[in-house]
Amino acid sequence: LRCFSHLPLSVPVKLPNGMEYEQPTGLFINNRFVPSQQHKTFEVISPSTEEEICHVYEGREEDVDLAVDAADEAFRNGWWSKIDPQERGKALYRLAELMERDAELLASIETLDNGKAIANARGDVQLAISYLKSSAGAVDKIDGRVINTGDTHFSYTKREPLGVCGQVIPWNFPLLMWSWKIAPALVTGNTVVLKPAEATPLSALYVCKFVAEAGIPPGVINIVSGFGKIVGESLSTHPKVKKIAFTGSTATGIHIYRNAASTLKKITLELGGKSPNIVFADADLEGAVNNAILGIYYNSGEVCASGSRIYVEESAYDAFVDKLRAASEKLKVGDPFDETTFQGAQTTQNQLSKILSYVDVGKQEGATLITGGERLGNKGFFIRPTIFGDVTEDMRIVKEEIFGPVVTISKFKTLDQVVEMANDTEYGLAAGIHTTNLNNAIKLADRLKSGSVWINTYNDFHPNVPFGGFGASGIGREMGIEALQNYTQVKAVRAKLE
Ligand code: NAD
Repeated sequence: LRCFSHLPLSVPVKLPNGMEYEQPTGLFINNRFVPSQQHKTFEVISPSTEEEICHVYEGREEDVDLAVDAADEAFRNGWWSKIDPQERGKALYRLAELMERDAELLASIETLDNGKAIANARGDVQLAISYLKSSAGAVDKIDGRVINTGDTHFSYTKREPLGVCGQVIPWNFPLLMWSWKIAPALVTGNTVVLKPAEATPLSALYVCKFVAEAGIPPGVINIVSGFGKIVGESLSTHPKVKKIAFTGSTATGIHIYRNAASTLKKITLELGGKSPNIVFADADLEGAVNNAILGIYYNSGEVCASGSRIYVEESAYDAFVDKLRAASEKLKVGDPFDETTFQGAQTTQNQLSKILSYVDVGKQEGATLITGGERLGNKGFFIRPTIFGDVTEDMRIVKEEIFGPVVTISKFKTLDQVVEMANDTEYGLAAGIHTTNLNNAIKLADRLKSGSVWINTYNDFHPNVPFGGFGASGIGREMGIEALQNYTQVKAVRAKLE
């Protein structure tokens, strides 16, 4: 629902857990919340109740122009890019501390807007805070190098910021993706214009309340809420935007890549996946089941790295399936504000429909529905944890990203066979290995075509460990020193000595 209105720049919101707060509704430009120029707004709904939470202003091309100009001015005046790096680090750290002060509210906003279970949302907030802090600490460690070119010259490199970075984020981890994008861009001296997903703009706007208080100058962080086809399109083609960073579907990523090519923007893309989770017969089976649960149902399965293809060694297959089925059926699905809920709502009606249509595809393809496969209730976008067995590798449910709590399980006999099955995908984001033989696990990790490999764990992220994909799963890396490098360009200086 979209309309024209003179919406106040903040509105009171009551949360189901009794908390109340003021939600900013404007675009955030030059450290101020402002209405969009056409005064258009769009509705934000709660996925667990399908009720309206509030409206926020919808940005369009002319708002992107304003935000990019603000970011460009902030970059060029040097108040951010040229200051002592430690000052940038301090401001980012302060931002993290302000978020910490409001951590429970932030988690609640995330649960309201995205539908994820509150425990899950608290985890996201802590990860976002710890990533900001870790990036703040790296601020004065982004070095070039001195290169030995003999005695006739002195040669060295520096890493310089790129300028205005356009950032487009998805709806599955609204605040965490905000931090994964903002932090590396800012510590390296860039300025940003970020577009949150239209389904989940609330937490990204709320944290902007802290930006000025943290000491981040006007124009350094700008947020333009709105739709991909307008705001996203405009950011990825804007001549003043020097880099575009995107997380979302592979199809949209390819489109953005094409757009960015016309002005040769630097690009990082964190896209889809269909990640294998491999369980050997010598694994701790209980642990492997717990990690499989975390791998596929965590965040309602809306995780790009989710372990959506499980491969179990033949001799352990029946025992593993029984345990996974029993554990899946015990998981509490429903009200995301209930402390005991494991799996909340899917974030959008579209996503719910997409997942349910894949359940139909799986049945038509002849896979066995071991458990789940249905919507839960008729209000809110809930679906039962779903397992398909008796799958073949050519089935669409094994090949295509479903992005929901739906997993396929296959058997394997030999190591070579499971390597071939695991790698038989255009994607390459993550992989899991479960075994008590660490030697074999490390050798297998080398053979898997994926950007992350988790051994006896899954969906296990750390701010210092890079994350990103091979193949159709993306370009570049988030987190770690690699993310900082993706926000800088190398200048080589070579002086001839007398
Ligand atoms: P999407 O990739 O289209 O949306 C992600 C973001 O991109 C949103 O902010 C959206 O507004 C923006 N966007 C859309 N079109 C754009 C364009 N032309 N130019 C610039 N930005 C644009 O994803 P979706 O349609 O919301 O979901 C579809 C599927 O994508 C899901 O079912 C899932 O498989 C996948 N997905 C993956 C991730 C991930 O983390 N890798 C996240 C969300 C969705």
